[in-house]
Amino acid sequence: MKVFAGIRHVFRPALATVFPSQCVSCGEPVEGAGYDAICRDCEPRVQLVRSPRCLTCGFPFFGEAESKAHCMHCEHLQPEFGQGWSMALFRGPVRDLIHALKYEKGIWALPDLRRIAEAAPELEGFLAGATLVPVPLHPLKLRERGYNQSELIVRELVAAFPDCGVADLLRRVVDTPSQTKFGRQQRIRNLRNAFSLRRNRAIESGFRYVVVDDVFTTGSTLNACAAVLRKVGASRVDVLSVGHG
Ligand SMILES: [Zn+2]
Ligand SMILES: [Zn+2]
Repeated sequence: MKVFAGIRHVFRPALATVFPSQCVSCGEPVEGAGYDAICRDCEPRVQLVRSPRCLTCGFPFFGEAESKAHCMHCEHLQPEFGQGWSMALFRGPVRDLIHALKYEKGIWALPDLRRIAEAAPELEGFLAGATLVPVPLHPLKLRERGYNQSELIVRELVAAFPDCGVADLLRRVVDTPSQTKFGRQQRIRNLRNAFSLRRNRAIESGFRYVVVDDVFTTGSTLNACAAVLRKVGASRVDVLSVGHG
């Protein structure tokens, strides 16, 4: 089944009209599940993040009673943002959905990502009254991919939580190499000066901005974006990722 994964993903919308949709994780038909692309067997592997959670990156403190400011994932981060939040762990079907969206043009994954947002405990409260800022792609990457996945995720969030605003404030001025193979220090170096405020955009004083990305791995990308917003005058900046790595 895995051999044909790419083909399945690219042609899913056409196939879906003929065959029942297939599970993004195991390839079995999706029938009677709460998701379009996650079957009933794989559904329990969607691990939504619940409190207590790390206040900086949103990673859950499994079984620990109290939220601390930092967990082992972000203790060296020196966050430029106030609070970090993640909807789910970047594992199993959540990882597969995000992977399809980023690398296989799987925009069909978006409705399921919205369902994950709707099911994510306490997310509505975290986003109440927030202005969402998508992490931008470099124009070259945008041309290659055809869309910015963070922007599409922001649209789904606004559909789920209509009192959120959107502000496309940032642009990516340096096309950094894919960060996945770099360690923490190298990521931070790569991202220095990678983002800036878009032309003719201004920070609204009193707004609370939440920068949104697909995945939180080391937090360097979200942190670099938050640093730009802070530098140009935003007083309240928080961050949100769909999946925590
Ligand atoms: Zn499955
Ligand atoms: Zn943390």
